Amino acid sequence: MSNPRQHPGDETLLRHATGNLGAGLRLVVDVHLESCPHCRERVRLFEAAGGALLERLPPAPVSPALIEAVFARVDSGAARPLRGPARRRQSVDGFALPAAMADCAIGPWRFVHPKLRWARVAVPGAPRERVILLKIAPGFSAPEHGHRGLELTQVLYGAFSDGRGFYGPGDLVEADDEVEHHEPRVTSDGDCLCLAAAERPLRFNSLLGRLVQPLIGI
Ligand SMILES: [Zn+2]
Repeated sequence: MSNPRQHPGDETLLRHATGNLGAGLRLVVDVHLESCPHCRERVRLFEAAGGALLERLPPAPVSPALIEAVFARVDSGAARPLRGPARRRQSVDGFALPAAMADCAIGPWRFVHPKLRWARVAVPGAPRERVILLKIAPGFSAPEHGHRGLELTQVLYGAFSDGRGFYGPGDLVEADDEVEHHEPRVTSDGDCLCLAAAERPLRFNSLLGRLVQPLIGI
């Protein structure tokens, strides 16, 4: 895999480092970190900075309730190491998925257009998160849409462009409220496979978008 050129913003990486990203967005960032030494280093710096801040605080008694909450979080799997022991990867349609997705349940492919298929990704412990795999054939242009809240798209295979940039394998595209017209267009010869997560439902403007959005529910 080539070195990623498009990365999550520092705010997103800081939210990841401090456990302040929802499970769906966290999964997309985890997948990005697998292939991006640059961002792994940023997250390590943020984690170290957080630890240093805590060390500078005066010692204070820790309540039993807090200890209980921390252990409950560890037991629930919500707090897990960045790189745990190697897990078995799964494949979808011959595409090997990143190790971070090893425990995710991938739903069946659904067609919304001859050139666009999507499958729901169920994140362990957080099945209601808005996470999907998108498989887009060459030449397809996704409907124009705006964003509400943060949306992260990680390119796993293939490539697309959206007028702001060109994105290949390993790249993470971050979009938020400021991006009003985001029209991804596949530029690779083969299918483009992406993992996408959104904080809130997308706001499609075009007719196809309005048709697709209720089906995808993202
Ligand atoms: Zn990166």
